[in-house]
Amino acid sequence: MLNPLTILAVTILSGAMGIAVLGSLWRAAIHGVGYWISANAVAIVALLAFASQGHASRWLTFVAANELLAISLLLVVEGCYRFLGRRRRPWVAYAGAFLVLIGITYWTFVKPDFNARVTVASAFHAGLYAMLTVTMLRDRPASRPRYTYYFLAVAAALLCVGHLSRGVMYGFGMLLQSSLMQVTPSNVAFLALGILAPPCLSIGVVMLAHDRLAERLERLANVDDLTGALSRRAFLAIGDALLKASLRTASPVAMAIIDIDSFKAVNDGYGHAAGDQVLSHFAAFITRNLRVGDVFGRLGGEEFGVLCPATTTAEAVRLMDRLRVRLAAAAPVELPRELKYTFCVGVDQHRRNESLAQLMARADGALYAAKASGRDRVMAA
Ligand code: GH3
Ligand code: MG
Ligand code: MG
Repeated sequence: MLNPLTILAVTILSGAMGIAVLGSLWRAAIHGVGYWISANAVAIVALLAFASQGHASRWLTFVAANELLAISLLLVVEGCYRFLGRRRRPWVAYAGAFLVLIGITYWTFVKPDFNARVTVASAFHAGLYAMLTVTMLRDRPASRPRYTYYFLAVAAALLCVGHLSRGVMYGFGMLLQSSLMQVTPSNVAFLALGILAPPCLSIGVVMLAHDRLAERLERLANVDDLTGALSRRAFLAIGDALLKASLRTASPVAMAIIDIDSFKAVNDGYGHAAGDQVLSHFAAFITRNLRVGDVFGRLGGEEFGVLCPATTTAEAVRLMDRLRVRLAAAAPVELPRELKYTFCVGVDQHRRNESLAQLMARADGALYAAKASGRDRVMAA
């Protein structure tokens, strides 16, 4: 039987489910999850207050119920702001929640008016759903798959339209109704639409949180922890794609393999921790000095790879030699004073239809030659 009380009961249960599912993400320390769990909890209290209409005071069943429901949606939006790393709080929404409190109190006690109460609450909800839609579309991280963000944006846009039409119909007195518990077709239809809100929002924010977890795992797999350079796996994958793209544009790609000289001696003389410091200093130095579009990865140990799009062998040799001279000139302040290090580079250019592995093998040969001829130098294959 679809009556308002059953609808409220179903919505309360779905809020409880939302808490249970979001609770599983609590330990992942994702920004926003705390707000989203609280939003469901506050919504449950609000719906219980609505359900007790006729059995409890109007303060509880009208004012507190509407205000808590408004706060619950505010918490969803606030959670999304925190999740997306926005510095500002949604102050307009806070102001709106305050206006809801004033409006509901006025139209409950001073000038009791059911239609006005529905209109003010619906206007607030429509406004916040519109904010949510805009936030999801505008602040979505560009590097992440769009699906989750669009899902929430579309769900919020539909809920916004639902609340807008509800607000307009009650606001212009198009519906004859005097209480939320009345079984009229329009009331039941709007409340039934309202059932969809908590599960849609909960599923949406759970998808957001899972996207964040996926992002963390991808980062672990693709970025080397110590140096912040691409992992070998990611370097090879991105390098492969870069070579394929360069075939289409017929522009040259240069590969450089860099190896720090006598690194074993650094470990032996200063300790493994100092060796680690050298590695991260070196990676930071290279990253600072590369150009946009260059791909930099740690191939293993103290060996790194750089792929330079739109660059010939001669240009890459000049670039690498500039870096070699620059590192020798600047004493690294982060390292023990007497600790200076140098590196060797082997360079070559991609040939049509050869694999990345073949290109790397030739650059590696050049690196070997640079080591053999005395270290601290750049050589082309
Ligand atoms: P060459 O000039 O010929 O390159 O000599 P090398 O000493 O730099 O090269 P070798 O391959 O003999 O030694 C590399 C050393 O790098 C051995 C290994 O213990 C050390 N190493 C590899 N990975 C790490 C790391 O993550 N941290 C530290 N501290 N050392 C590492
Ligand atoms: Mg070495
Ligand atoms: Mg080595």
